[in-house]
Amino acid sequence: RVNNLQGYAPICLGLEDFYTRRLYLRIQDCFGRPIASAPDAWFDVVERYSNDYNKTLKRTKNKSRCLNLGSYNYLGFAASDEYCTPRVIKSLKRFSPSTCSARVDGGTTTLHTELEESVANFVRKPSAIVLGMGYVTNSAILPVLIGKGGLIISDSLNHNSIVNGARGSGATVRVFQHNTPLHLEKVLREQIAEGQPRTHRPWKKIIVIVEGIYSMEGELCKLPEIVAICKKYKAYVYLDEAHSIGAVGKSGRGVCELLGVDTADVDIMMGTFTKSFGSCGGYIAGSKELIQYLKYSCPAHLYATSISPPAAQQIISAIKVILGEDGTSRGAEKLAQIRENSNFFRSELQKMGFEVLGDNDSPVMPIMLYNPAKIPAFSRGCLMQKVAVVTVAFPATPLLLARARICISAAHTKEDLVKALEVISEVGDLVGIKYFPAEPAKL
Ligand code: PMP
Repeated sequence: RVNNLQGYAPICLGLEDFYTRRLYLRIQDCFGRPIASAPDAWFDVVERYSNDYNKTLKRTKNKSRCLNLGSYNYLGFAASDEYCTPRVIKSLKRFSPSTCSARVDGGTTTLHTELEESVANFVRKPSAIVLGMGYVTNSAILPVLIGKGGLIISDSLNHNSIVNGARGSGATVRVFQHNTPLHLEKVLREQIAEGQPRTHRPWKKIIVIVEGIYSMEGELCKLPEIVAICKKYKAYVYLDEAHSIGAVGKSGRGVCELLGVDTADVDIMMGTFTKSFGSCGGYIAGSKELIQYLKYSCPAHLYATSISPPAAQQIISAIKVILGEDGTSRGAEKLAQIRENSNFFRSELQKMGFEVLGDNDSPVMPIMLYNPAKIPAFSRGCLMQKVAVVTVAFPATPLLLARARICISAAHTKEDLVKALEVISEVGDLVGIKYFPAEPAKL
């Protein structure tokens, strides 16, 4: 008897044996935990090997050590780092793990002001505000930026934190087809008459929200086209760079740098520190006036405890390494490595016949499984050969667009990637997800 609270779990149950052609009896509860015996398909609880750049993880259940292809640790900073770690330890001793205060009530240390200056300088904007959590940065800032009488036009695949922020703002929300500038223009044209000054439009303000790299698609935002359309229709651009800041661009400054967009044309730049910087928290960068307004009116700034000082120090230090201000070329090497690793892995997967979403240079690589029933078999097959991948299904994706989402890190070595490719290829054959003919091996 299976308790169905998760919706898609029983579908997986019914069909996975058909695809693997193995007679595993797998009965799972509503959270996907196995009840009857079968090799485990999930890595729910893990231990970290924090001294190896988080590129492997240990499953607490059977203690096996797996290659980690699921972490957002794009630059390998989620680890003990020769520059960052001593400084983080020092900040822990000096400032303690928490300020136990909101920013305006004594929770602002010198680290907090240094962090905001450092972030503003890094993303090339006059000013920045930092909050303790990336998710909250979107969901709490949007209602401060816009409300009733305003219009949000959001990419159809924007992250849940944006969706919730937009809903909570009280503004009217329209959605445009994912990363399709032509459709964005159609939606904008429907809403306003071209060329009218801002004050004569039916909306108090219009904000268009996009992401730099889409976390479930691995795709780069068509930012130049979107910025041009927003200029034409006088709409503000809000860019979430959670997955692109630090990960792409010549000096790691994200999609604006990569795609040649002037940051002056992006009104609100948002990002998180949980990926490339190996820390936690989120930021909004923009004009001095905008940031000052947010600091005086955002409840998550006024009433929430400020970001943990050691986390702030980690970000400050990681930015220094990325920009070469630690006196080494490690930052540039990490950026070159993540690009090389990502492009190598993507092209090898494609040659094998997998359908891989996303663009070159993006470290996010979804391998399409389509049928959610294939998820446990794929995940388990990889885990049994000590490769940990994250699989994603409804409701995070449309029901029949299930996928395995690989995240590549600068910390992965060529040997790691070659091993992972061998495993994924073998399991891909077993599960039947090579939808294209493989490229003949070159003699
Ligand atoms: N925005 C996007 C696009 C994300 O993918 C995520 C989470 N991965 C967030 C915001 C929330 O960030 P955090 O996990 O740092 O809270």
